[in-house]
Amino acid sequence: MAEKVTTITLVTCTSCGKPIPPGAEATKFLCPNCGEILIRRCKKCRKFGRPYRCPKCGFTGP
Ligand SMILES: [Zn+2]
Ligand SMILES: [Zn+2]
Repeated sequence: MAEKVTTITLVTCTSCGKPIPPGAEATKFLCPNCGEILIRRCKKCRKFGRPYRCPKCGFTGP
């Protein structure tokens, strides 16, 4: 039997750290400060305006 390998790239919300399921409403944008890190925010964090922190440059923003 051949082993089936399914690779699921699970993205996590930069604000809350929770995984964002594929197809879920989430916003992603590059860090406005360094422009190198892709910030992802889930629907909830966007709604509640939770802050995010860039893991590279430490920039925090709404
Ligand atoms: Zn979140
Ligand atoms: Zn940054």
